[in-house]
Amino acid sequence: MASTTASTGIAPLRLGGDDGWGYAPAPESTDHVELRDRYGLFIDGEFTDAADGRTFETANPATEEKIADVALAADADVDRAVAAARRAYENVWSKLPPRERGKYVYRVARVLQERGRELAITESLDGGKPIRESRDVDIPLAAAHFFYYAGWADKLDYAFPGRGARALGVAGQVIPWNFPLLMAAWKIAPAIAAGNTVVLKPAETTPLTALKLAEIIRDAGVPPGVVNIVTGAGETGAAVVQHDDIDKVAFTGSTEVGKLIRRALAGSGKHFTLELGGKAANLVFEDAAVDQAVEGIVNGIFFNQGHVCCAGSRLLVQESVADEVISKLKDRMETLIVGDPLDKNTDIGAINSRAQLDKIEEYLEIGKEEGAEPFQTSCPVPERGYWCRPTLFLRASQSHRVVQEEIFGPVLAVQTFRTVDEGIAMANNTPYGLSGGVWSDKGSKAFRVTSRIRAGVLWANTYNKFDPTSPFGGYKESGIGREGGLSGLHAYLQPEEAA
Ligand code: NDP
Repeated sequence: MASTTASTGIAPLRLGGDDGWGYAPAPESTDHVELRDRYGLFIDGEFTDAADGRTFETANPATEEKIADVALAADADVDRAVAAARRAYENVWSKLPPRERGKYVYRVARVLQERGRELAITESLDGGKPIRESRDVDIPLAAAHFFYYAGWADKLDYAFPGRGARALGVAGQVIPWNFPLLMAAWKIAPAIAAGNTVVLKPAETTPLTALKLAEIIRDAGVPPGVVNIVTGAGETGAAVVQHDDIDKVAFTGSTEVGKLIRRALAGSGKHFTLELGGKAANLVFEDAAVDQAVEGIVNGIFFNQGHVCCAGSRLLVQESVADEVISKLKDRMETLIVGDPLDKNTDIGAINSRAQLDKIEEYLEIGKEEGAEPFQTSCPVPERGYWCRPTLFLRASQSHRVVQEEIFGPVLAVQTFRTVDEGIAMANNTPYGLSGGVWSDKGSKAFRVTSRIRAGVLWANTYNKFDPTSPFGGYKESGIGREGGLSGLHAYLQPEEAA
C-alpha cells in the first residue's frame, strides 16, 4: 500500500494552542511499509485462503478507511490449523533438541527488532495507537518476550528442578485488539519455547501485525505447523478454544467471554489460563510527590487511549490533597494531544473501532445520569475517525457504574478517601483484581498498602511498567493464571504429577 501520512486523510491539526507556539506536525512516514490488499490464514507454514473463500475488512480507525481484506477462518480452517499444529508437535517440535528450538525463537526475536519500525507503523495504522507507544513500548516489548523465552528453551530442567519439564502439546490462543503484536508475543513465545505448537487467533479489528509476525516466523525457518494463525471474529475464537484436539487454552480478553470459555472448557480436561478485564485503583496519598503522581495518573489511564486491561481507571485521592491533585491533573490533561496516531506529537490516538467508541460514549452518558461531574479537555480532534477526548468523572461514588465497570477508554473515575484503611477498602471494592498503583513518599506505607490490595500486579510511585521477566495476571474476575516470567513458562508445561 502506498500510504503516506498525507494519504491517510487526517488534516494536520494545530497542536498545543492557537498562539503560534504549538507543535508543528511530525508525521511518521509510511513509505517503506508494505501492506497487501489481501491476507490469508497462516496454516502449516503457508498463507492460504479460507476454505469457503470468505473474508472480512480491517480498517484504519483514524480514517475509517479499509486497509485490507483478511481471510475469515471457519471451523474447517481451524481443523486444518489444529491438525497442522498436532503434526508439527508430534513429528518435529517435540523431537527437536531444546537448544535448537531456542535458536528459532531467538531468530524470530532478532527479525522483530530489525523490522521494528515497519511493525510499529502497521500497529498504529491498524489499531489507532500513537506511534510513540507502538515504537517505544509494543514492538520492543514483543521482541523482548521472544528473547527472554528463547533463553529458557534449553534450560527448562533448571527452571523447574526435578520436574522433567514436558510440553503440553497444542495450545489454542485467542488475543484482543489493544496490544495486538505484544499479546501475540506473550502467547506464542513461552508456548513454543516450552516445546508446544500453537494456533493463535488475533482480534478481528487488528489482525495485521500478527500476520506480519507469521511472515517473520516463516522467514525465520520455524518448521511448518509450529505456529498457525487463523483470523476471524468471535466464532473463529470459539472454534479454536473448543476444538477437541487442543491441550491448552490461553485467552486474553473480556471477562464476559472468559466466563463463556471457562464454562465451555469445564470437564474437558484442557489446561487453561484466562487474562481478563480490570478496573484498577490508583491511590494517591497525602504524602505523595504530587507532580509525579499526576504524571502517573495520566500514564495510568490515558496510555493507549485507556484500552489497557490494567489501566488505572479509578483514581482514589486522599481528601487533604484532592483539590491540588485534581487541579494539576486538569491542567496536565489540557496539554494532551489527541489525533493522528502516526504523528509523533500525539499522546492519545484513535479509539480502536466504532463499536468501542459507542461503548465509551454510552458510559459518558451513564456517568452523567448517575450524577458524577464530567470534565473533558478542549483539544481539537480530527473530523473523521474515532476519537474521545480525555475525560474525568469527578465526585463519583462507589455504586456508580463508571466506578464499577470496565470502560476501556480514556475515562477516569475520581473518588476521595480520608484514611489509609478507607482507601484500601475502596480499592478492593470491585469484582476485578488485576492491577493497582500506590503513590506515597513512605516506602513502608507503599508496602503495607500493596500487600492488602487484592490484585495481581501493583506499582508503587509508577504505573504501567512491563517486563518479560515479570509475571502478569489477575484475581477474582480478572482471570486465572499468570503470563510473563517463569510463571508464564510454567503454564505451558505438564503439571508436576504428570511429568
Ligand atoms: P473480547 O473478549 O471481546 O475479545 C477477545 C478475543 O476473543 C478476540 O480475539 C475476540 O474476537 C475473541 N472472542 C470473542 N468471542 C469469543 C468466544 N465466544 N470464544 C472465543 N473467542 C472469542 O475482548 P476485547 O477484544 O473487547 O478486548 C478487550 C478486553 O480484553 C477488555 O475487557 C480487557 O480488559 C481485556 N484484556 C485483558 C488483558 C489481560 O491481560 N488481563 C489484556 C488485554 C485486554 P473478535 O476480535 O472477533 O471479537
